[in-house]
This record gives sequence, structure tokens and C-alpha cells, in this order.
Amino acid sequence: MSTLNVPFVSLSDQFVFPTNGQVGASLQPDQDARCTYLCGNSLGLMSQRSKVLVQEELDVWGTRAVVGHFNHPLSRPWVEYTDKLTPLMAEAVGAKEKEVAVMATLTSNLHLMMDSFYKPTPERYKILCEAKAFPSDQYAFTSQVLVHGLDPSEAVLELKPREGEYTLREEDILKTLDEQGSSIALVLFSGIQYYTGQWFPMESVTRKAKEQGCICGWDLAHAAGNVPLRLHDWDVDFAVWCTYKYLNSGPGGTAGMFMHEKWNNIERPKFAGWWGHELATRFEMPPQFSPITGAQGFQQSNPSVLALASLLGSLEVLKEAGMMNPVRKRSLQLTGVLEELLMRSKYFVPTSEVSQKYGKSGSAVPGFTIITPTKPSSRGAQLSLVLLPTGSGIMQKVFNSLVSYGVIGDERQPDVIRLAPAPLYNTLADCENAAKYLDMALDSLSSS
Ligand SMILES: *Cc1c(COP(=O)(O)O)cnc(C)c1O
Repeated sequence: MSTLNVPFVSLSDQFVFPTNGQVGASLQPDQDARCTYLCGNSLGLMSQRSKVLVQEELDVWGTRAVVGHFNHPLSRPWVEYTDKLTPLMAEAVGAKEKEVAVMATLTSNLHLMMDSFYKPTPERYKILCEAKAFPSDQYAFTSQVLVHGLDPSEAVLELKPREGEYTLREEDILKTLDEQGSSIALVLFSGIQYYTGQWFPMESVTRKAKEQGCICGWDLAHAAGNVPLRLHDWDVDFAVWCTYKYLNSGPGGTAGMFMHEKWNNIERPKFAGWWGHELATRFEMPPQFSPITGAQGFQQSNPSVLALASLLGSLEVLKEAGMMNPVRKRSLQLTGVLEELLMRSKYFVPTSEVSQKYGKSGSAVPGFTIITPTKPSSRGAQLSLVLLPTGSGIMQKVFNSLVSYGVIGDERQPDVIRLAPAPLYNTLADCENAAKYLDMALDSLSSS
């Protein structure tokens, strides 16, 4: 395995890993060794660079206080701090600089964009999304529909996988758009589904949505920093994402927002705030709002520079790795290896055999299947495992056992464990550990 040629040397030295001792890995003899962290899909690790940049801003705050807004010893005046970030962020999502704003949080940006772009009419009023979207998105859809006096059960159209399947088929999404497109105002999927790890065919869905006259937006929480995106070229109308997952900005980090430049003169910010006002005259505080052209006009408040500093650090590390193409190349290998190792386990059950083996009065033998698509172009870094038999409580036991070996993935009730080798800092050894300790966890359950 170690002879495998993985692109660019892992940047794990540039990140801070919790140790086995710190995560409670009671069964690991070396408590000071770094743990096997495979949870970058939920919270990316802290880069050393972020730590340095945050400390620098704390120091400037301590030594210059208010002056730091305009006169900064490191040439990063706080009023212009986002200017350092937008070029990197734009490159990470395949957008022009002016199409991207680094601002606020995912859900509030989603509301802002939906307020501008979801304009239901009596004929065209539906929102097409995936069933079991992330709860925050579901709440946002429901509440936006209610604002327009519509009934969510009619206006929110949720696409479910076919019976016995776990992920959506491209042909079924496109067919729904063909058949119901004229009643759909907004198509809004996640780029990568948080639960299954499926990377939706973003380009073809966007194209079909446009053909049908729908607006197409994307929630890229699990896609940004995970897979290469070309938002501008794909003609996406808008997108929102958080940065604390694969972009490693730290808990609650500042989010991102994209609005295609073709909307610049049409969709002007409706809920204006001073930070959306042109920088040249912002501090003259004129009575009339004169927004920055493009996504940045939607900014409302002056941002947290500490949060931005942390994000700048992690984006600089991403840039150093060569941005998303080499990162994706490495990711394909890491996730491919993890999948291969998991499929070699004696506990692995192909999805096609799950109902036969574990259906009515089926096996009680512990096992697992992988519900993430096997096709690499239909997934990012994450693999989602369903522990079998479902509903037996086995997932929690396996999860706890993994933690005692220092393997940190995350659990999604009732049956799923997600493991995500993050391309910037995970290694083949992490993938090997995950597979090995999963087997050991299942061994101990089988024998007890
Ligand atoms: C992580 C995630 C969120 C989180 O929203 P915040 O506003 O950042 O708290 C929302 N949607 C999806 C799809 C996510 O994966």
C-alpha cells in the first residue's frame, strides 16, 4: 500500500491533530500519537497557519486597537480583510472574484439568496430538493415557502431514491425536471449529500433546470474544498457554503456565497447593510445605499476578523497544495483505498445483498454496507457506512469502539457512520487504521 503514489506529500504536518489521549482512545498504547481523524466532513482540523494568523490579529488588536481597521502593521487592514480571501475562495469554487462573497453563515446566506431568487407564481412555485436534505435546509425551504403563503407539503418537492436504493439516479432527477419543470421555481440540491456522500451531477442538473426555466442554486457545505467546482461555467445562479468542513476555517467559521455575474444588475441586495456599501464611500456614511456590484453587495455587517484570519490560513494551505485539482487527485486515491480495504473485510455486505441477507427474519450477524456511490465521479471524500442489522443499536457500539481505538468518524442515527479521509491532511495510514479497527470492533461484537 505504501508504494502507492499519492499526489503531493500529505500536508498533515501543517495541521494540528488531537492525540489518542485527547480523544479518549483508551485502547491505544501510544496516547501521544495523533488520532485517526476522519471527520473533516463535519469539522476540518486546524492548520498551523490559521493559528499563526489568528494570533497575529489578536496582537494587532492588543497593540493598535481601533487603528487596526485602517492602519495595520502586517498590511491587512481589517476593513479590507476579505480582499485577501475572495480570490482564493473564488478559485476554490470556480468563480470570478466579484461573484463571491465571504460573509456570514451558510443558513443566513441561504435565506438571503432564497429571498432574492425564490419568486413563486401561481404556475411556477415549487422548490425541488433531495429528500432528507440537511435539516437546516429543510427548515429554510419550509419557512421561505410559508413566507409566500404557500403550503410546504405542496411547494417543497422532495426527490427520494428508488425503492431499495440509497442514492438518487441522475436520470430520475432529470426526468422529474422534464416532467414537472414548468411548476418548479427553484432547484436546490446539496452539491454533496451530507448523509450518503453522493455528489450530485451538478452540471447536468443545472443545465436541465435552466432549460426548464428554473432558477438553480446549490448548497455546497460538503462540496467546497472537497471536489473541484466550476460554478461560473456551469451557469449556476447562486450557491452557499460553510467553510468549517473541508475548508478548515474552524467552528462556526465565516461562510461563502456565490451569485452569478449575469444577475448583477437584476438582483440587487434587498436587505441592505453598511458592509455591502462600496468601500470608497462606506466610511463617509452617506444616507443613500450604494452597493458593491455582485455578491459582495449582499454583505451586511463588518465581519469577524478573527474568523476571517483562521479561514485565510486554511485557504493559503489549500493554495499551497495547488488548489482543487491536485487535491481531488489525492482524494480519489485516499477514498479509493479506504473503500477497497473496507470491501475486503469479512463483514462487508454489498448493498445489493442487504435486503436478501438482512430482510425479514434475516441474519443477526454484525456487518456493514457502503451506501455512498461506488463511482468516484459521484462522490467526494466521504464514505457512509450502514451498520447491520439496521435498527439493532450496533452502530453506536461500533462507533464507541472505534473511538477507543482513536478512530474519529461521525455517527448519524440510527445506523450510519461516516468516514471521510480529508485530502489535505489524511494519509493512507489513516485509511488502513480505519479498516483495521472497524474489523476489530466488529470482531469483538461477534464474539460477545
Ligand atoms: C453543515 C451543513 C449546514 C450547516 O449550516 P450552518 O448555517 O453553517 O450552521 C447546512 N446545510 C448543509 C447541507 C450542511 O451540510
